[in-house]
Amino acid sequence: QPEFSGPLAQLMAWADEERRMKVRANADTAQDARVALGFAADGIGLCRTEHMFFERGRINVMRRMILAQSDEDHRAALERLLPMQRADFAELYRVMRGRPMTIRLLDPPLHEFLPHGEEEIADLAREMGVSAEELARRIADMQEFNPMLGKRGCRLGVTLPDIYRMQARAIFEALAETWDGDQIVDPEIMIPLVSARREAQLIRGHIDEVAAEVARETGRAPRYRVGVMVETPRAALRAGDLARDVDFLSFGTNDLTQMTYGLSRDDAGRFMRDYVNAGVFPEDPFHTLDLEGVGELMLIAVERARAADGSVSIGLCGEHGGDPASVRFCELAGFDYVSCSPFRVPVARLAAAQAAILARDDEAAEGAAGAREDEAAQ
Ligand code: PEP
Ligand code: MG
Repeated sequence: QPEFSGPLAQLMAWADEERRMKVRANADTAQDARVALGFAADGIGLCRTEHMFFERGRINVMRRMILAQSDEDHRAALERLLPMQRADFAELYRVMRGRPMTIRLLDPPLHEFLPHGEEEIADLAREMGVSAEELARRIADMQEFNPMLGKRGCRLGVTLPDIYRMQARAIFEALAETWDGDQIVDPEIMIPLVSARREAQLIRGHIDEVAAEVARETGRAPRYRVGVMVETPRAALRAGDLARDVDFLSFGTNDLTQMTYGLSRDDAGRFMRDYVNAGVFPEDPFHTLDLEGVGELMLIAVERARAADGSVSIGLCGEHGGDPASVRFCELAGFDYVSCSPFRVPVARLAAAQAAILARDDEAAEGAAGAREDEAAQ
């Protein structure tokens, strides 16, 4: 790993020996993944698949799928998306070979995918063979007053399951395609913005069905895990139920902060400085994890999840994953990993090491104090 040399390399190696938690990176492209590996990330903790569709050549196919009115058009668009996704995953698997990789199913706010402005609408209408007026009407039908609270995350997968089935197929077919005696990565498929247990059950059902189909077709049965993001307060409170149905939980602290405060992550920046200056918030909760509110919910969730299933893995993949104070909180709460943007991985590795050392010191001090008390009692 050519990331650092000299004393800095020694420091990082020492930190890696000390830390207990894994540090993964949020990466959506092979390029991000290479940067992450350059910084010695232990794997990918969040691959946001919606980012794979923002390229000009692809966004219109995605739009055609979302805006299709016949099953035939819908399926035709999905069939075009499948090989693109398969190639995306195969490329990432080759880079990440041997390391864990969490792939999150599509989590759009729909408004980010719908075309804007007359020109884009006219372009797409031409491609789809419908009039611009007709397409504008379909778009208007889909507009939401609060897209961030609308048909986002798994709500899309529940209402249009073929999208998630296409993604699951791409994940499994890419495993078969890159097979080298065995599958070269063990994917972890993550369901976004869950708030009800049934959402996880329904989508897990689709994933398992597609896995069985691909195993039959290719003769290569995939190993995979399925997990949910905990990013709504309800998911945090119901973490015990969720843990019974899935293999891992990952806190999306960006949305969990937004939803706990009822504060828009996209708009809060405009007045955050005034709020911090006025002493309303000690710090921007989108940058530094709010240990009192959001953190409390997370602790409730961890306790309920572990009580329901002691082997469930627990991670964090919001922006806070690279913030040292938040990393310390995760260490104390017994998380298995944190995941952050690739360039924050080194800081997270150091923070995880420091947190582990401090936690051991605290434990040792408690042990010594306990022994003194016992002695005094005798
Ligand atoms: C989150 O909400 O913390 C998260 C990781 O997902 P995203 O930022 O993509 O909404
Ligand atoms: Mg989120």
